[in-house]
Amino acid sequence: MISPESEIRGPAQRAVQRLERLVRETGRSEGLEPSGIRVAIAPGRVNLLGGHTDYNEGYVLPVAVDRFVSCAVAVDDSGTIEFHSLDFDDRFTLELARLSNLRGDREEFEQLAGGRQSRWRRYVAGVILEMDEAAVPLASGLVAIAGDVPVGSGLSSSAALEAAIYTAFGTGVQATPEAALLCQRAENRWAGVPCGIMDQFASLLAEQGKALFLDCRRLTYKNVSLPGQSAITVVDSGVRRELADGRYSRRRHEIETALEILRKVAGPIKSLRDLSPGDLAGMEDLLPHTLRKRVEHVVGAIERVPKGVAHLALGEVERFGQLITECHHSLARLYEVSIPELDIIVESALEVDGVFGARLTGAGFGGCCVIFHREGCEEELESAVTEAFEAGFGSGLSFHHLHAASGARLLSEAEISEISESSGS
Ligand code: ADP
Ligand code: MG
Repeated sequence: MISPESEIRGPAQRAVQRLERLVRETGRSEGLEPSGIRVAIAPGRVNLLGGHTDYNEGYVLPVAVDRFVSCAVAVDDSGTIEFHSLDFDDRFTLELARLSNLRGDREEFEQLAGGRQSRWRRYVAGVILEMDEAAVPLASGLVAIAGDVPVGSGLSSSAALEAAIYTAFGTGVQATPEAALLCQRAENRWAGVPCGIMDQFASLLAEQGKALFLDCRRLTYKNVSLPGQSAITVVDSGVRRELADGRYSRRRHEIETALEILRKVAGPIKSLRDLSPGDLAGMEDLLPHTLRKRVEHVVGAIERVPKGVAHLALGEVERFGQLITECHHSLARLYEVSIPELDIIVESALEVDGVFGARLTGAGFGGCCVIFHREGCEEELESAVTEAFEAGFGSGLSFHHLHAASGARLLSEAEISEISESSGS
């Protein structure tokens, strides 16, 4: 599960080469050497265990994958940061001296980042505003951003973007839980998405070849090794959804309602993390049918994560895989966030020899499934899943064969000069 170095090149190379062109065209940062450029890359992620457990203060087990958003900065002393998005063909400028005004003036922020096409600006400006509020000294300069994390399909391109910005503008300090919280605040406050902490944590703190066992209540974590012969295939259903589309918020609201009811009998439960499946057995009649299903999913999904980590430690990869599949069935039947397209991907994948487990990843309602399998069965997997899917839904699937990558980092000078246009590569 080692990420080939060439995988990071795509987005980082595009960002660096555009940045070099911008420097030449604008005359900003003239005389810049490759060593004057800071380049961050941050990965997307898939979640192997846990699902809608993060905002219930439970456990999750994401893996950072080798698809990245890269942010390249040519620092100067202009007092402004000019951001260019290659993928959205858009740009905007922030004045460092006016960041605190911008924070206090929602209307001005909306003018800057309000349009649908300019949604990416919310995440970028959001991270910068949060960094400024946290008194992180910020450099001015030209910035180019490029990525190859599929957008809006559940691999968390938004967290990869936030982590890339944070890392490029940070002080070089290692990624920390505080950094993940800062990026989450940026998404909550400035992009208006009530996401949990998992995505930012995975994008910043994961390690190569490992999954990240995260306690979303205590924010303690441990990177746990995945078996050497295992691999991850992500299947994009082609069905798009956006976190901001309301259904995710509805699930969160249902959980809040269920908690209010449960508190009346069970006392001060802060979150569903405080309940075990055993506790629930005595409270079944308190909740309306739908809320009971939601709660049952969350409590079971939380319990499955440490169980899975124990299986990994013992090398019981098949039992680990079974838990992944159980999680899908629970998301589908109890939390009701699956759709027929995702179910058919999961069921057809499970028929293939060498597949340990399969599930939807991300919030659901579309997007991707993740399949955890023995290395080497990729071809068979693609044809079995494609055949089953096309029989029901026609074409539109795409497959990504991925490796467990490390979290966000700055590229070394040697790496930058290798991908730089001026080095003639
Ligand atoms: P996801 O599941 O991929 O995180 P979201 O809807 O949460 O989906 O976030 C997607 C948003 O993140 C995009 O609309 C865009 O604003 C931003 N984004 C993702 N990747 C990039 C990129 N390469 N460049 C600029 N913005 C990006
Ligand atoms: Mg997102």
